[in-house]
Amino acid sequence: MSLQKSAFLKGRAWIELSAANLRHNVEAIQALLPANCELMPVLKADAYGHGAKLVAGELQKMGIRAFCVATVLEGVELRRSGIRGEILVLGYTHPEQFYLLRRYSLTQTVVDYPYAQLLNDLGREIRVHIGVDTGMHRLGENVQNFHRIRYMLKMRNLRVEGIFTHLCAADTDSPADRVFTRMQGEKFFQLAGSLQEEGAPRLKAHILGSYGLLHYPELAGNYARIGIALYGALSTGADAKRCPVHLRPVLSLKARVASIKELGAGESAGYGRAFTAKGKTKTATLSIGYADGLPRALSCGVGRVLIRGKFAPIIGFICMDQTLVDITGIPDVTPGDEAVIIGESGKESISAADLAEQTGTITNEIFSRLGPRLERILVSPEAKGEIISLSS
Ligand SMILES: *Cc1c(COP(=O)(O)O)cnc(C)c1O
Repeated sequence: MSLQKSAFLKGRAWIELSAANLRHNVEAIQALLPANCELMPVLKADAYGHGAKLVAGELQKMGIRAFCVATVLEGVELRRSGIRGEILVLGYTHPEQFYLLRRYSLTQTVVDYPYAQLLNDLGREIRVHIGVDTGMHRLGENVQNFHRIRYMLKMRNLRVEGIFTHLCAADTDSPADRVFTRMQGEKFFQLAGSLQEEGAPRLKAHILGSYGLLHYPELAGNYARIGIALYGALSTGADAKRCPVHLRPVLSLKARVASIKELGAGESAGYGRAFTAKGKTKTATLSIGYADGLPRALSCGVGRVLIRGKFAPIIGFICMDQTLVDITGIPDVTPGDEAVIIGESGKESISAADLAEQTGTITNEIFSRLGPRLERILVSPEAKGEIISLSS
């Protein structure tokens, strides 16, 4: 990649990150945390598609000292880019890769009791946080198995520094889900308290993600593992509207107008001739496609983009590398113009939540599928759009 890379990054399709908005979100989230609770940003899946190196670098500059990732190799990548402090791997690591945990000073989640034994069998000390299952039934040792969990503390090669659980229904306000979530919190803190009494006083306990923090701040432990909110979004647009803290979107997604065409009535465009012009129609071909993470489900008029402050509907089927839009009625569009897929243009804007709603998913999926072909550019808070940092 780097060999061919030109100094100009806004060539085809790219992501712009607002450093100012990231800082705003960090401060807004930190203001919600009790004094003894530290923000532990979640940088999995390339920081929800934003670009983990850039985001982590900014966070480190802001004084953040603890991070989460999903995989051991995501942790390695952060270390290689100079990230210090604690990096917790939330997901499964194969025993063949345990050596990487040590080599890069990563902290591994103990996903259950048999896994604790595998980690211990490495024969050399590994830092861990114990995952506890309080009802999600994904990862974690069952919260009821106090003796198994206590025994993990005694395993010779496990340096147990934390214990955590994950809420599975913190995002709804149904009474049943609230009861369930409170039960998760109670069982977890009861367990953590007993372990701390039994000789692990410095064990860090944590439970909250973004929705947990917004809806159950009273459950805050020593860390808050915040992902989606950090990026200035929630899973749905409706949730974002109801959100009591003001978050600002960090990411904009843009692409170039490659070519402009005029179609007469009855002429078709794109694969399968899925679009047919009803009358004289002007189209633009954009240099972004589903391989970049633009959902193909936005094809045929479901989605739209912004060009020169005006909406241009997507026509025909989105291709792997390109997308057609209808620009009839948008004056002066020129090849090389910017098209905004997520972000602002003039007085209009399109959010990741809009794309999620149009395609029946959540913003988390829209973000995390944004592909490696997109350049990621961090835009300075002071200078007007000046580039201060590049993704690689
Ligand atoms: C992804 C993840 C988070 C972050 O969730 P958000 O809702 O994005 O804040 C926290 N904890 C665990 C275990 C996760 O997998």
